Amino acid sequence: MNIIVLGCNGPYPAPGGACSGYLLESGGRFLLLDAGSGVAGRLFQQTTLDRLDGLILSHLHWDHCSDALALSNAIQFELKNGTLDAPLPLLMPDSPQPIADILLSDANYSPQLFDSRCEQRIGGWLVTCTPVKHPVPAYAVRVRHESEPLCSIVYTGDSNVHPPLAMFSKGADLLIADSSFLSSEWSDEAPHMSASHAAELALSANVGKLMLTHFRPEANVKALEEEAMNIFDRIVCARQGLRVTVAAATTARE
Ligand SMILES: [Zn+2]
Repeated sequence: MNIIVLGCNGPYPAPGGACSGYLLESGGRFLLLDAGSGVAGRLFQQTTLDRLDGLILSHLHWDHCSDALALSNAIQFELKNGTLDAPLPLLMPDSPQPIADILLSDANYSPQLFDSRCEQRIGGWLVTCTPVKHPVPAYAVRVRHESEPLCSIVYTGDSNVHPPLAMFSKGADLLIADSSFLSSEWSDEAPHMSASHAAELALSANVGKLMLTHFRPEANVKALEEEAMNIFDRIVCARQGLRVTVAAATTARE
């Protein structure tokens, strides 16, 4: 499976940057995790809409969902000209309103709400989710593709420290984790984890690789990486355009 970082800033884009957007590719098919500002244009650098199986919005903060509106316009044109024959599947939380209502009533999407009880299917993608700790309803997702079912990635979305994430992320080949803060900047009431927390999560879940992400425009990414490397050393820092290929472990990581 390939993961292409379309955007990794939050809560607003750096100069020339983009907010959260991670494009998964397996067997020539794509799935988009989050569509923050700047993501739609970068998506079209990688694929056309007819090869995109769906969009997952981890939560409905602007830095994760604003380009879902721009994408809706593109879908509308493709539906009209016949390039697409159905609205785009969209997996999302049911609140806060009115953002949820706008997306749920958008005819260019085929929306489905997160359901943490079972695996949900989007095209050939198999998705499980779990609620995380953020000021609005937010979900982490674990994603596999049926063409390589032993390979999985986990994306935390935005979350402060949330112990159930360790079990949820267990043995994943790649963990894409909110790493917004240095430990010195973090507090228990913060909306995000620190880089150290992301590394501790990667260690306890025994994941193959950790991607640090959700960098504020002013973030010192090198310092975040150094802090995390003291705990877990299989790390990559997200940057726009970064492509990471992950494969299932040859021995079980569970
Ligand atoms: Zn965010």
